[in-house]
Amino acid sequence: MIIGRRKRLLLLSFFLFCLLFSPGCRQKEIADLVLINGQIFVADRSVDFAEAAAVRGGRIVSLGPTETVRRQISPSTRVIDLTGKLALPGFIDAHCHFASGGRSLAGLTLREAKSVEAIQKMVAAKIKELPEGAPVFGSEFDHTLFPGAEWPTKEDLDKVSPRNPVILERVDGHSVWVNSLALSLSGIAAKTPDPFGGEISRNPRTGEPSGILKEAAARLLKIPPPASNAEEDIRRALKLAARLGLTGIHTSSTLEELETYRKLASSGQLTLRVYAWLPIQDIDACLSQGIKTGQGDEMLRVGFLKAFIDGTVSSSTALLFEPFSDEPDKRGEAQYAEEDFYELVGQAHGNGYQVGIHAIGDKGIHWALNAIERAQKETGKNGLRHRIEHASLIHPDDAGRFASLGVIASMQPTHCTTDLVYAEKRFGTERCRGAYIWKTLADSGAVLAFGTDWPVEPLDPMRGLYSAVTRQNIVSGDPPGGWFPEQRLSIREAVRYYTWGPAYASFEENIKGTIRVGNLADFVVLSDNILEIEPARILETKVLYTVVGGEVVFGAD
Ligand SMILES: [Zn+2]
Repeated sequence: MIIGRRKRLLLLSFFLFCLLFSPGCRQKEIADLVLINGQIFVADRSVDFAEAAAVRGGRIVSLGPTETVRRQISPSTRVIDLTGKLALPGFIDAHCHFASGGRSLAGLTLREAKSVEAIQKMVAAKIKELPEGAPVFGSEFDHTLFPGAEWPTKEDLDKVSPRNPVILERVDGHSVWVNSLALSLSGIAAKTPDPFGGEISRNPRTGEPSGILKEAAARLLKIPPPASNAEEDIRRALKLAARLGLTGIHTSSTLEELETYRKLASSGQLTLRVYAWLPIQDIDACLSQGIKTGQGDEMLRVGFLKAFIDGTVSSSTALLFEPFSDEPDKRGEAQYAEEDFYELVGQAHGNGYQVGIHAIGDKGIHWALNAIERAQKETGKNGLRHRIEHASLIHPDDAGRFASLGVIASMQPTHCTTDLVYAEKRFGTERCRGAYIWKTLADSGAVLAFGTDWPVEPLDPMRGLYSAVTRQNIVSGDPPGGWFPEQRLSIREAVRYYTWGPAYASFEENIKGTIRVGNLADFVVLSDNILEIEPARILETKVLYTVVGGEVVFGAD
C-alpha cells in the first residue's frame, strides 16, 4: 500500500517534470500569436531560417516547422500567415532624435528645398499665417543642395522678412541661418566676438555677421523657440516608426522628456522600446536623483550620457588633425579643452555611466578614444560599453582601438552615402580612406550599432541597409560600384548591426536583436527578401508587419 503510493507520487512528479521542462510538452502551450509559412531569419548556428514562430506573454516560445507550431494555436491565437515572406528581428535605430524628429514632422521643414528661392517662398507664406512680427522657425535646410552649394545670407531672408525674425536650422542641427532682425534683436553685430566652440560667419571685408551662426554661436540668439509639446511630437514619431519596422530606438532625451516617455510607457502608448540618452551636463542631476544607465524595463531604459567633443563636417567644426582640404585655415572646433574633456568622461565612467561621445573628425575621435582608455586604466573597469557616436573620419592608427577598448561604433550609413561627394572635397581623397570604415571596424572585432540621426537623415532603416551594402548615393546611385567599396558590408552584416548591434549597445543582446526562443517577440515582416534581392530593390522594400512584444503595432490588416 505504502509502496504503491510512493510509486504513484513518483509517477506524478515525473509527469509534472515532463510537463514543465520537456520541450515536447512545452510545444503544446497555447500561443497568443503565431507566424507561419514564412522565412524567419534565425541565423542560429547552422540553421538560417525557421518556418514558423509562436509567441506567448510577449516572448518567443517556439520556432520550427509550421506543422509543429500549429499545435499551439487555439481559437484565441492570432495567426499571421507569412506566405513565404521574410521576417527579421525588429530594427533598432541606435541614434536618433525622436522628439525633434516628431516635431520636424509638424513644422516648417525645408528638407526638400533645393534653392534659396524655394525657401524664400516658404518663409513668405508662413509669415502670412503669423501675427505681426512673430518669429519664423524652420529646420532642415541644406545648402549643399542649392546650385553652387554656397552658404545663404541674412539678405536672402531680409528680402522676404524684414519685420519678422527668421531662424532656420540646418539639417544637421549644428548651424542656423538667420535674418538681420534676428541678429539685431539678439545684439549680434560686427564687434561681437566668436564664442568658444562657435563661429559667427562674417563678411570678410566688413566683419558684419553674414547670417550663419555655427555651433555655440547659435546660442547667442535671444529669440525664444516656439512652444512645443513633446508628447505630441513623440506620438507623431511613434506612428512613423511603426510603419518603418522599428521596434526600438536609442534617442536623445532630456530629464523632462524622460518623464514624457515614462508617461507614455506607463499608459501603454509606447509602440517601441526606448533607450533614452541624457546630456552629460546633467550628470549632477542624474547623480542626485539616482538616475543610472540601464534603469527601467524592457520598454523604457535610461541610456548613456552624451558628450560632444566636436561639431560637423558641413559646418567645418569637426575636429581634425590636419586642416580641411578646401579651407586650409580650419581644423574644427573642440567643445572642451582636452584635459577638461578627459576629466568629464572620467567622472561619468567612475560613476558607472555608459558614455556616448559625439565625435566626427579624426582628432575628435582620437580624443574620445583617449578619454575612454584613460578612464578604463584609472578605474580598472571596462564593461561599460562606451560608444562613439558617428565616428565618421578615423585616423588609421585609431581604427583598431575600438575593438581593443571595447568601444561601440555608433554609425549612420546614410551619412556616408549622403555626404560622400562632399566629404572628398572637404578631406581630400587620401584621408577619405578613413571615412565611414564600417568594414574595417567590423573585421577588427568592434561592435557596430547602426542608426540614422533622424531628423538629420530620414528614419527609414531600408535606406541605411542599402547604404551599408552599396556605399552609393540613394538618389543618384553614384559612384558606380560604391565609394571606397572595400568598406561595403554584406546584407547579413548590415542587418546584424541594425538589430543585434544596437541591442548589444544597450546591454540587451540576451533578450532582443535576434530571433531566439526566450527573446522578446520583436519582428518585422518585409515585402521582399532583402537577403537575396538586388541591393537597389532594398529601397523599394515595404514593411508588412511590425510586431513589438507580440503586439502587432503596424500591419497589413
Ligand atoms: Zn545626432
